[in-house]
Amino acid sequence: MTARIIDGKAAAARLRERVSELAASFWTSAGRQAGLAVVLVGDDPASNVYVRSKGKATIAAGMASFEHRLPESTTEDELIALVDALNESEAVDGILVQLPLPAHIREAAVLTRISPDKDVDGFHPVNAGRLATGLHGFVPCTPLGCLMLLEQELGDLAGLDAVVIGRSNIVGKPMAALLTARSATVTLAHSKTRDLSGHVRRADIVVAAVGRPRFVKGEWLKPGATVIDVGINRTPEGLVGDVDFDGAASIAGAITPVPGGVGPMTIACLLRNTIVAAHRNAGVPLEKGAI
Ligand code: NDP
Repeated sequence: MTARIIDGKAAAARLRERVSELAASFWTSAGRQAGLAVVLVGDDPASNVYVRSKGKATIAAGMASFEHRLPESTTEDELIALVDALNESEAVDGILVQLPLPAHIREAAVLTRISPDKDVDGFHPVNAGRLATGLHGFVPCTPLGCLMLLEQELGDLAGLDAVVIGRSNIVGKPMAALLTARSATVTLAHSKTRDLSGHVRRADIVVAAVGRPRFVKGEWLKPGATVIDVGINRTPEGLVGDVDFDGAASIAGAITPVPGGVGPMTIACLLRNTIVAAHRNAGVPLEKGAI
């Protein structure tokens, strides 16, 4: 094995530490804690685990956590009424509605109701538009975490060739926008892409967000490439990524493991977005580059 392992756990711990410092100074300046509201509808076991760990991490960072657990039978109107109340609440800086929602509730109707200034998940079309046009907004947590890992590993990304595999609104598209903004040359690949391995072979950076276990093969990679594996796939052998780790690790220059790579950065970036939202909402200045 030759690739350096990109330690997402350590990077996330450093980011959470920085959020804690800012949360403490915010509390002093604003006279209140920064607050994150997390809404869960129904009792999906995986969502339950995510919501619990987000709440714990929020409290550990010195911010207030407001958990709203609603029954599966909740109507769209009831959920929207809760979102409206959270939009109005001065104690709440960030609002996160855990997905997926039950089938009888339209996700878009709920997500577009969240105030863009409290949209710490970055899923509101206004924030997607801000990202696409280079304005300040909230960037979805997973691609933001991937970007931080890439910059930590590579420094300046200008001029590098990047392939992002997967074009979801949550990961692939914002990832491509972030890399474009950093002046990488970006190819956004998807299920209709021809000659995917040919594209990957030219890439200095490969971000895999496909949702298929061990889909990206080591022999596709350019030697020395930096590989970010977003995938989380449950298999009989445990959690595996979208990249064939063993094959890739002998060819890549650096690679994120699964687990312990992108996953920990996602929650840390949620905390980061929340403390940024708190400063903006309360009018407390935050120096450029402070986090
Ligand atoms: P989606 O299912 O929304 O998107 C998957 C994308 O992969 C689609 O754009 C699809 O293309 C593309 N794709 C599917 N098959 C192929 C193929 N054969 N060749 C090329 N592209 C293909 O997934 P998400 O973006 O939500 O998530 C991707 C992965 O990341 C999942 O494993 C998920 O669990 C994980 N994830 C991890 C997070 C973390 O915190 N670590 C957070 C979020 C997601 P098309 O558009 O043409 O259908």
